[in-house]
Amino acid sequence: MDHSIGKKIRESLQADCQSCFGLCCTALNIAASSDFAIHKAAGTPCPNLQSDFNCQIHSKLRDQGFKGCTVFDCLGAGQQVSQTTFHGQDWRKYSEISDRMFRVFPIMEQLYEMIAYVAEALSYKVDSSLFNKLHIQLEQLQRATDLEADALLAIDIPNFRLPVNVLLLETSEQIRQSLIVKTNGKNSRKYDYRGVDWIGKNFKGKDLRATDLRGSYLIAANLQNADLRGVDFIGADLRDANLRGADLSSSMFLTQMQINSAQGNHQTKLPSHLNRPSYWVD
Ligand code: SF4
Repeated sequence: MDHSIGKKIRESLQADCQSCFGLCCTALNIAASSDFAIHKAAGTPCPNLQSDFNCQIHSKLRDQGFKGCTVFDCLGAGQQVSQTTFHGQDWRKYSEISDRMFRVFPIMEQLYEMIAYVAEALSYKVDSSLFNKLHIQLEQLQRATDLEADALLAIDIPNFRLPVNVLLLETSEQIRQSLIVKTNGKNSRKYDYRGVDWIGKNFKGKDLRATDLRGSYLIAANLQNADLRGVDFIGADLRDANLRGADLSSSMFLTQMQINSAQGNHQTKLPSHLNRPSYWVD
């Protein structure tokens, strides 16, 4: 079993905005909030999007009330839709494709999210049966990203997610169990906090290794210097969580968007596939 394949694929999933026609700034419906200063309907270009598809306030997004734009990460779905599905035709020049392009983008985005999770799962030392199932699932997802626009629009995403979710749960169980046995065998503390509401709670310096925090609410929680290795963060809300000095080096299913939405510093340890946000300061 070659676990490096999953790692390489996960690390390669990076947005290339120069190869995208500003799809996140156009296709999505965004409600006005503290993260986005205006309301923008799906399919309507943001007024800050320039004719060359660059953002005219790119360097001042946070100061001007567009923090959400610095958090968003399509993992490369934007360039796939722009360059592969629609063969480099941009929606300004070819307005007849714009509607389909904008509807394909959120579907592609979800396929890429699933690919990222499955690729990460493949990078772990799971048993051979699970490894093979993950591999088959990854190939199926990758094939889907190359479909024509109409076939992409016909994908039933919730149904697509079901088998992926089963495999990710199995991966999480296997990896966290081995870590629990290795690091904390005699400690019978609770490890399952799926969906827990820990908004604003204080876990400064705590050992939370191998805890299941799927779908948990960690908004503004203090996780400073906490040991978060082996924690399953899938779907957790980490907005404004304090991750300064925390060890997330082997946290599971953590995304760039979750990291971008949290607060950290140069002492925060991140998995190799995630980048330290430029606005994290010591
Ligand atoms: S503010 Fe800039 S980055 Fe954000 S949606 Fe508008 S054009 Fe895109």
